[in-house]
Amino acid sequence: MVSTIQSLLVLAPLGQRMDNFGVNTRLFLDLSYEELAQEVASLGEPSFRAQQIWEWAWKHLVSDFSAMTNLRRSLREELSHRFSLIPFEVVARECDEDGTEKILARLGDGATVEAVFIREGPRRTVCVSTQVGCPVGCAFCATGQMGFVRNLSAGEIAGQVLYFARALKAQGERVSHVVVMGMGEPFLNYAATRKALLILNDAHGFDLGARRITVSTIGVVPRILEFAAEGHQFNLAVSLHAPYDSLRAKLVPLAKKWPIAQVLSAAEAYSLATGRRVTFEYVLLRGVNDERRHARALAALLRGKLVHVNLIPFNPVPGLPFQPPDSKSIELFRQELLAQGLDATVRRSRGVRIQAGCGQLRTRMSRGSPTS
Ligand code: SAH
Ligand code: SF4
Repeated sequence: MVSTIQSLLVLAPLGQRMDNFGVNTRLFLDLSYEELAQEVASLGEPSFRAQQIWEWAWKHLVSDFSAMTNLRRSLREELSHRFSLIPFEVVARECDEDGTEKILARLGDGATVEAVFIREGPRRTVCVSTQVGCPVGCAFCATGQMGFVRNLSAGEIAGQVLYFARALKAQGERVSHVVVMGMGEPFLNYAATRKALLILNDAHGFDLGARRITVSTIGVVPRILEFAAEGHQFNLAVSLHAPYDSLRAKLVPLAKKWPIAQVLSAAEAYSLATGRRVTFEYVLLRGVNDERRHARALAALLRGKLVHVNLIPFNPVPGLPFQPPDSKSIELFRQELLAQGLDATVRRSRGVRIQAGCGQLRTRMSRGSPTS
């Protein structure tokens, strides 16, 4: 697979520079609108300034306070002493010929995470990370092998979208979709993830519709219920991966805490509260969860519910003892689900050629072999 890669890997600095970030500045992107309004008040400014600054950052996508030309110069200077608009520095980038682009972002404290941009027909999708590493440790996941380092802040999460949105703006384009499917478990960093989504959704700023944003969770039941109770229109994807608790627990350590029945009823509560169809993700692992009996058991669990099944052939991770099924088995699995009345698609992960699978660029960089 590696020999077919048409990718480019460059070392920093790339594009947006971190200039003064990390010294005494806070990340502006961490502020909600209400928090910005408080900052503006503390500077003795009239409240409409908050709206102006918010629009510069989230609508006009400027990366420097000096560009906020309807603010007086001393206010712009004060803001740039207090805050930075740059969430990270890009230390590596890979581009595929199909337009998929993956970055490795170095945050203010030196930690690194990945974000991926996917161009597909009219869609311009950004896939964001929510944690450095992941505490869940799924057996097939590159991020899961890294352990957990820390949660990202709301600004560090939303900043990944902003990074690509700023680059697209120069080409007259916009980010059309966001998927929270990068490194980490968003519902184990619930407050920051929620805040980031609401910032991106804000109609006076970035204005990305909730229905264009999808959060993928491994099944943190209490947080799914909390998310449901909020009543937003975000899409929910639940990573199931197995139709039996015993098998699921081998693949997803957290499954011991919340059995499949609880995960399903939380997902149902989500679709009841929001009217949204929930997606179930199922990574297909050859000889592990890809047989006909698995498809039948999966169909028996989900039949009659407002759901969609996304089958994801395993994207090989060096050092892990799994393989994807061959294409015939994948199709047979899907046909079995269809025959049982389910709606199922195969997601051929774009960017597999640049190893856009979760956590893989970071792993290779830390092994010191970015091109192997
Ligand atoms: N923690 C969340 C979101 C990040 S992972 C979750 O697990 O849902 C996003 C999706 O990528 C999940 O469905 C996950 O199972 C899948 N994934 C992880 N490693 C993979 C691999 N090596 N091949 C294919 N899919 C993978
Ligand atoms: Fe974490 Fe999701 Fe990877 Fe599991 S699949 S280790 S929950 S990022």
